[in-house]
Amino acid sequence: MPIISPTLSPSNALNSLPPPTTSTTSDDSAKRALLTSDTLPIVKCTARARIPTTNGVEIFLHLYTNNVDDKEHLAIVFGEDIRSKSLFHKRLGESQSDRMTRGAYVGRLCPGRRIADIDSKLGLKLQFDENGNITNDTVDDDTDDNDSNLKPASIWNDETLVRIHSECYTGETAWSARCDCGEQFDEAGRLMGLQGHGVIVYLRQEGRGIGLGEKLKAYNLQDLGADTVQANLLLRHPADKRSFSLATAILVDLGISKVRLLTNNPDKIIAVEGKDRLVEVVERVPMVPKAWLEANGGVRSVEVEGYLRTKIERMGHLLSKPE
Ligand SMILES: [Zn+2]
Repeated sequence: MPIISPTLSPSNALNSLPPPTTSTTSDDSAKRALLTSDTLPIVKCTARARIPTTNGVEIFLHLYTNNVDDKEHLAIVFGEDIRSKSLFHKRLGESQSDRMTRGAYVGRLCPGRRIADIDSKLGLKLQFDENGNITNDTVDDDTDDNDSNLKPASIWNDETLVRIHSECYTGETAWSARCDCGEQFDEAGRLMGLQGHGVIVYLRQEGRGIGLGEKLKAYNLQDLGADTVQANLLLRHPADKRSFSLATAILVDLGISKVRLLTNNPDKIIAVEGKDRLVEVVERVPMVPKAWLEANGGVRSVEVEGYLRTKIERMGHLLSKPE
């Protein structure tokens, strides 16, 4: 079976492309309707755990299930105070031990701890309404803890640094220099680690949503001369098959309503805000490739330069190479 559709040549693939987008605001309701779904997916955080990382920063990894696909999407959370409503919701018949095991605890676990909802060492206590929904943290004023990761939510203003990251096995694990996904992921983590607060929503949509197998075929087409957009179209996939409504739903579940979004993609801003704008992007924080800023750092290859050029010229990304 031929990979390349006989009815879709590179030239008519190009003709079917939408024009590049340049708007950065939500002024286009038609585009919002196109990029967002009417109803948000239902997401549920099933487990959370503290991960000490190799650079010394602690993160809380949240694992999500949902009602639209069978993949396990993730939220990498910087800041102990960011709480998943679905995770912390009290479940019928569960014990405090059950709650600690699935990660629905306040503060920090330690050997011998018995109560999930109270960390007496740090003076933290969770509060719930009569339906078992988490309402707030309280902090005992007597505590002399200075760990910035344990400030109650009210201390932070609502604006949270967020990155919506789509899985890229090749760029993050197989050292690929065809894209800068690994670098962007690392940089987002670095910035959030410095701030001690932020969320990377990690969506399992490899290869702009077409999956790893199709992505590898697209790479071969790129070696045959197609750019990243053309390659997807030649495989009869949209240039970008990704959906960000799961990210919106996860941010809502984490109680995050105002976002400083790390992205160069104006469509992502609209998509993440969603139809009803339950999440508001108050600022776009650019992601400039390190190779453009530093003499030696960053992903450097002929392929990544072509990839970035296609993003800018064909997909409307807001990025310009410094002179
Ligand atoms: Zn990538």
